[in-house]
Amino acid sequence: MNVIPRDQHCISRKNISDSALKVMSRLRGEGYQAYLVGGAVRDLLLGGHPKDFDVATDATPEAVHTLFRNSRVIGRRFRIVHVRFGREIIEVTTFRGHHDSDERSGAQPGDHRSRQSASGRLLRDNVYGTLEEDAVRRDLTVNALYYDAGTFEVIDHVHGLADLERRSICVIGEPGLRYREDPVRMLRVLRFAAKLGFDIDRDTAAAIPDCAQLLADIPAARLFDEFLKLFMAGCAAATLELLLQHNLLRFLFPDTSDCLERDPAALALVRAAMANTDQRIAQDKPVTPAFILAALLWPVASARAQQRQECGEPAMLAMHNASQQSIAGAARHLSIPRRFSQPMREIWEYQLRLQRCHGRRAAELVDQRRFRAAYDFLLLREQAGEDTGQLGQWWTRFQELPLEQRLREASAKGKPGNRKTRTRRSRSAV
Ligand code: ATP
Ligand code: MG
Repeated sequence: MNVIPRDQHCISRKNISDSALKVMSRLRGEGYQAYLVGGAVRDLLLGGHPKDFDVATDATPEAVHTLFRNSRVIGRRFRIVHVRFGREIIEVTTFRGHHDSDERSGAQPGDHRSRQSASGRLLRDNVYGTLEEDAVRRDLTVNALYYDAGTFEVIDHVHGLADLERRSICVIGEPGLRYREDPVRMLRVLRFAAKLGFDIDRDTAAAIPDCAQLLADIPAARLFDEFLKLFMAGCAAATLELLLQHNLLRFLFPDTSDCLERDPAALALVRAAMANTDQRIAQDKPVTPAFILAALLWPVASARAQQRQECGEPAMLAMHNASQQSIAGAARHLSIPRRFSQPMREIWEYQLRLQRCHGRRAAELVDQRRFRAAYDFLLLREQAGEDTGQLGQWWTRFQELPLEQRLREASAKGKPGNRKTRTRRSRSAV
C-alpha cells in the first residue's frame, strides 16, 4: 500500500464539494471509515473539476441510510446510497469484498454474496469487504485512488498514481478475467482513454479482441446508459475513433459499423457529427442524444430508404418505413427511449421536406419545432462532403426572412438558386 501525505499531492479540500465533506465527516464521527474515491480523486489529482463526488465507506448501505435522513438506498446489482443535498447527490458505496461463485460459496438467493453467470459475469455483487479489497474490485488503477479528508492522505493500493503520471489506462488485475466479470469494462477503458487523452496499457488493450463478443450479452438498457456516457461527455470524436480502432462499435451499432466499413462518406458524416457535438458541449450549447443517434444511424436509414425507393416506394413513405426499420434494428442492441427515437425520425424525414423550397409549406417549415435540428443536420451532411446542391446555404438565408417575404419568395415561379439535389456518390436517399 502506498500512502501519499498531504504535502506530496495536489488535492485541496477547497476543491471538494461541501456536501461530500459533510458526508465523510459524519461517517467518520460515527466511527466509520470514509474516503473520497473514483473519478473525483482522479480528476482532482489531474487538476480538473470532478463532475460528481463519490464516497466509499465500511458502513453498510442500511447504516448509511439510517445516518442520513436525506438518503435513499438504490440499485440491485450494487446496492448504493444516494445522499441528496439540493440538486447535488453524493453516492456512497460500501467497500466491496472478494467474491466467490455460487457453487463455491453455496450462496442462497437473496443473501449478501455475489452471483456470476456461466460466462463469469457478475450478476449481483453485494459482498462487503475492506478498503484494500474494494480497491482491487474497481475497474481501472486510476479509478481506485482514495482520499482521506480527515488525514488529507491519498491511499493507493494498485499503482494508480504511477499510471496517472504515465497517463495510462490500465485494468486492475488480469484484464481477460475482469472483462469476463463485466464486459462493459471494455467500453469504460475506451471511454476514459478518450476522456483523459491517456494511452491504453498493452495488456489492457490486448485482451479486448478475445472478450469483445461478451458485450453481445449486455442488456440493451445498460448499453444505452453507457452510450450516453461515451458520446455525451464532450469527447465523442476521440471515443468514436477508439471504438472503431478496437472494433467495439459493432456491439453498440452493428448496422452502422457495417456501413462505416464500406462507405467513407458515411464515416465522414458520423465523424463530423461527433466533432460538432463536442464543440457544442465545449461552448455550453445544448446537445441531445437524438441528434447524435440520428447521425449514427443515418447511413443505415438513408441506404434503406434508397433501396425501398428503388423498389418503387414513394420517397417520403420509403424514408418513413426505413426509419422505423432502422430504429427497430438498433433498439435490439441499445434500448433507445421513444423521447429520442421520435425526434430522430423527424430529423430524417425533414431531410426530404427541406428539399422542397417552394410553396406555402416551405415558407412555414422554418417555424416548425424540428426545423432547427433538421437544418443543423443538413449542414452536417454538407460539411461531411455530401452534395445537396447548396440546399443548406439556401435555407440559411431563407429562414432569416420574415414570414411574408418567405411566402412571397417560396410562391414565386423561378426557384432561387440551384437546389436540385444530385444523388451523392454514396447511397443516400436524398
Ligand atoms: P466519471 O467522471 O465518468 O463519473 P467515474 O470514475 O466516477 O468517472 P463512474 O462510472 O461514476 O466513473 O464510477 C465510479 C467508480 O466506480 C469508478 O471510478 C470505478 O472505481 C468504479 N466502477 C464503476 N463501474 C465499474 C465497473 N463496471 N467495474 C468496476 N468498477 C467500477
Ligand atoms: Mg462518477
